[in-house]
Amino acid sequence: DLLLDVARVRSEFPILEREVHGKPLVYLDNAATCQTPQSVIDTFDDYYRQMNSNIHRGLHSLADEATAAFENARETVRGYINAGESREVIFTRGTTEALNLVAQSWGRANLAAGDEVLISHLEHHSNIVPWQLLAAERGFTIKVIPVDERGVLDMDAYRDLLNERTRLVAVNHVSNALGTINPVKEMASLAHQHGALILIDGAQAAPHLAIDVQDLGADFYALSAHKVYGPTGAGALYGRAELLEEMPPWQGGGEMIASVSFEVPTTFAAIPHKFEAGTPAIAEVVAFGRAIEWVNRIGLAHIAAWESRLLEHATSAVSTIDGLRIIGTAPQKAGVLSFVVDGAHSQDIGLLIDQFGVAIRTGHHCAQPLLARMGVDATCRASFAAYNTPEEVDVFVDGLRHVINMLR
Ligand code: PMP
Repeated sequence: DLLLDVARVRSEFPILEREVHGKPLVYLDNAATCQTPQSVIDTFDDYYRQMNSNIHRGLHSLADEATAAFENARETVRGYINAGESREVIFTRGTTEALNLVAQSWGRANLAAGDEVLISHLEHHSNIVPWQLLAAERGFTIKVIPVDERGVLDMDAYRDLLNERTRLVAVNHVSNALGTINPVKEMASLAHQHGALILIDGAQAAPHLAIDVQDLGADFYALSAHKVYGPTGAGALYGRAELLEEMPPWQGGGEMIASVSFEVPTTFAAIPHKFEAGTPAIAEVVAFGRAIEWVNRIGLAHIAAWESRLLEHATSAVSTIDGLRIIGTAPQKAGVLSFVVDGAHSQDIGLLIDQFGVAIRTGHHCAQPLLARMGVDATCRASFAAYNTPEEVDVFVDGLRHVINMLR
């Protein structure tokens, strides 16, 4: 019953009509950025034709309409992750900015020498480097939850690492490099038993899994619009209201103040505005809301079921290729097939398969420590979205065979 009318889905994505090197585009780089449906593209035209103006401060009709559209997107994102209140949703430029916001605001105010932050070996650089930058300044210690050879987190090691010095666990929901789905609900409950908070990087989960921040027990949750059929330049940070209210502002400027004075201390706006200094990416945020409406219309459960079929099909098809090794074989995976091939460099595969119109990712996927742990310095990664088809997977696998023969 979880059917997806893929032809209809595809018809909503104009970019899928284009050709690359004279071949129909087969876009399998969705974990990096996924494509946008017509309704999201139309948002920009509507917005700039009808209501372009600055939000939250104007009293004129355009400012009112733009503010309503922006705040409506906040409510849409709230619903998508089941946050209790829309003021718990802060708009950012994306996941990276959301993670840096937590580090620079919560982290700077709460972490000091003697404290420990647990991250995992599966993290994207954007959930590693902000903590390293802050640790250099504040003197706390970063500890790493190890992964096994399948790319699965070692939960026994996690339990052992948790102690009374642990202040924060920062972990991704789904690994971008391997596709591993992490048991974040269980991790949250263990973190809380030790008095620590949990920050979940949901960049790769948001397009594939139903997210309920309350059920997961997330203290913070980050996502990017461009991974959920939306535009670049927008994302969101969920934070529990009590935490956000206690946290100091991060960036200062317009929009985030209550009153500014040279004589008495400047006071700050209530959340979420306290964390939204300056003019935000208004059209992008409105389009982010439209993208989520699109996902809701298709149905995340239908998308997820379709993608797992694609992943199974691709996994079994590439398994017949001699010398190909899948990197990341966790039993719970979403949307990603990462692999290396004996006698063929990942970069060369990526470049040559582009000649077949096939877009895949090659490299370290901003997860160098993870790839080092898996014993490789680069992989090829095919990643799937609602509009991909089994036929496209076949074009990709045929292309891969050709390319490997050329390189060997
Ligand atoms: N975390 C993960 C798991 C990701 O996949 C990405 C994007 N590749 C990011 C964080 C960073 O997201 P953005 O570049 O949109 O800020």
